[in-house]
Amino acid sequence: MRAEAEPFQDALPPASRPDLGGGCRRCASSPVAKLRAADVRTDVSIKPTQFGILIDREFALSQILPVMDATRAWGRIFWVDMEAASTVADTIWIYENLLKRYDRVGLCLQANLRRTEEDLHRLLALRARIRLVKGAYKETPDVAFTRRPEIDREYLRLLQILFAEGAHFAVATHDGRMIAKTVALAKEHPDVPFEFAMLQGVRDPLKSELVAQGPAVAEYIPYGPTWLPYFTRRLRERPRNIITMVRSFVSG
Ligand SMILES: Cc1cc2nc3c(=O)[nH]c(=O)nc-3n(C[C@H](O)[C@H](O)[C@H](O)COP(=O)(O)OP(=O)(O)OC[C@H]3O[C@@H](n4cnc5c(N)ncnc54)[C@H](O)[C@@H]3O)c2cc1C
Repeated sequence: MRAEAEPFQDALPPASRPDLGGGCRRCASSPVAKLRAADVRTDVSIKPTQFGILIDREFALSQILPVMDATRAWGRIFWVDMEAASTVADTIWIYENLLKRYDRVGLCLQANLRRTEEDLHRLLALRARIRLVKGAYKETPDVAFTRRPEIDREYLRLLQILFAEGAHFAVATHDGRMIAKTVALAKEHPDVPFEFAMLQGVRDPLKSELVAQGPAVAEYIPYGPTWLPYFTRRLRERPRNIITMVRSFVSG
């Protein structure tokens, strides 16, 4: 099993402050240096809003690059999380720029967004590394599927596209139906490399079962001392996340 650490950037100046400077870059890449010094077997994952994407995408790119370069020098995969729908176009722009410099960069795509299928085909043609999730942000029906059955149907459809056109993607879900479909698709496409990805502490017995069957499983682990802002942010983004977290404490 492999880890995927999301270093907290909460020590950074708030993204609403336009005076972010070189100091920001220094403190952003230091968690990667600490992970490397401790020789943690992990990839790295970041959220673009913590690098100023809401100010300006070029500015955010300039802040993310040193962190990606530190990850590249370490030889680990650098993942870019996807956030609210209003940030998707700029996040993809940043991702494409990162991909020009390092081929081991991954991007999260959300099955609940109507635009995702088109994004997926285009990005796979660029040999993008995709992490497929259902989507954690509450969106409006003009941009997103909002009903659970619709989102699940999309997720299953996008999975098929990933197995047909992609490689080295991550299937990030705790949903047994999505996982069973992935296992079935993996049997039909035995040469397509992929991994499962799940949050730390959720469905731990299942992770071990999957690893025993063959597929790799990555655990997404928030990293750093300021865990509380991260935790409350996730709940604010989508209160249903608390059910997943509480269930994980109860059932493991
Ligand atoms: C590695 C990773 C990275 C992510 N990155 C992003 C990101 O960048 N952007 C983003 O928008 N979202 C991200 N997410 C969150 C994602 O979008 C979903 O909000 C979250 O994963 C919940 O959806 P789900 O597919 O796990 O299943 P849900 O729809 O929450 O649950 C479906 C079913 O799964 C089963 N289940 C879930 N948890 C448990 C449990 N603990 N025990 C037993 N059964 C359970 C239950 O049967 C449940 O009914 C990420 C998720 C993961 C795992």
